[in-house]
Amino acid sequence: MTSERLTNRASVKYDLLKFDHELRHARAERDRAERQRRESEALNRQLERLNNELSRKMREVEELQSRLTSEAVHDPLTQLFNRRYLDSVVPALLSGSARRASTLAVALIDLDRFKRVNDMYGHLAGDKVLMMIGRLFSSALRPSDVICRYGGEEFCIVLPDTDGEGATVALASLAERLRAMAVDWASETLTGFTFSAGIAVAPVHGQNFAELISAADRALYAAKGRCRDRAIIAPGA
Ligand code: GH3
Ligand code: MG
Ligand code: MG
Repeated sequence: MTSERLTNRASVKYDLLKFDHELRHARAERDRAERQRRESEALNRQLERLNNELSRKMREVEELQSRLTSEAVHDPLTQLFNRRYLDSVVPALLSGSARRASTLAVALIDLDRFKRVNDMYGHLAGDKVLMMIGRLFSSALRPSDVICRYGGEEFCIVLPDTDGEGATVALASLAERLRAMAVDWASETLTGFTFSAGIAVAPVHGQNFAELISAADRALYAAKGRCRDRAIIAPGA
């Protein structure tokens, strides 16, 4: 009897020890799982931070790329296209117009007596006028026309699907807007700007850009010789 009780007590003690052991084990497991959960949450937060950082950097790179692309083809003062861009697009515009059996007009524009603006009001005033003219030209022409600052106070405009008469009308409208333009400078208002222009038309005056520019340049020279403030179509149209 006594030995039976002893056995029972030993068995209970064993069960208690086993239970205690299992409890410790379960607690250790729970703590480990909790640690892992916290670690994984911290890792997720870190991953999210890194993802956000990466997206921000990618946006910065894209913005920088598009700015560089834009700067490579634009003139910084007027924001018009530069010559490099013009040279790169005109061959495609010319072959497009040849395919459609259409005409393409090239106008070289040179501001009249622009040196006087610098001489009277200073170079910065001249810069402001050029900037305003860039804006005016951009807003006045068709979206398909390509406007470029060709040199200091010279501009080149390429007008697809336009003949000499169409280009003359477009330039007359530009000249009218330019004449109406007023630029505030210090306490002065600068007005009365005019330009002279030469127009050449493909395919009549040339098959390629160099031939067209050279014909337009000769017509521009003629316009300067005839008291300025006018657009002249190259002879032979
Ligand atoms: P013309 O009617 O014969 O064309 O006279 P013009 O005075 O316009 O011609 P000229 O070629 O003698 O002078 C061009 C002037 O344009 C001289 C130059 O100072 C000015 N110019 C050219 N580029 C710039 C520029 O970027 N900024 C400023 N402020 N002036 C410029
Ligand atoms: Mg000039
Ligand atoms: Mg000039």
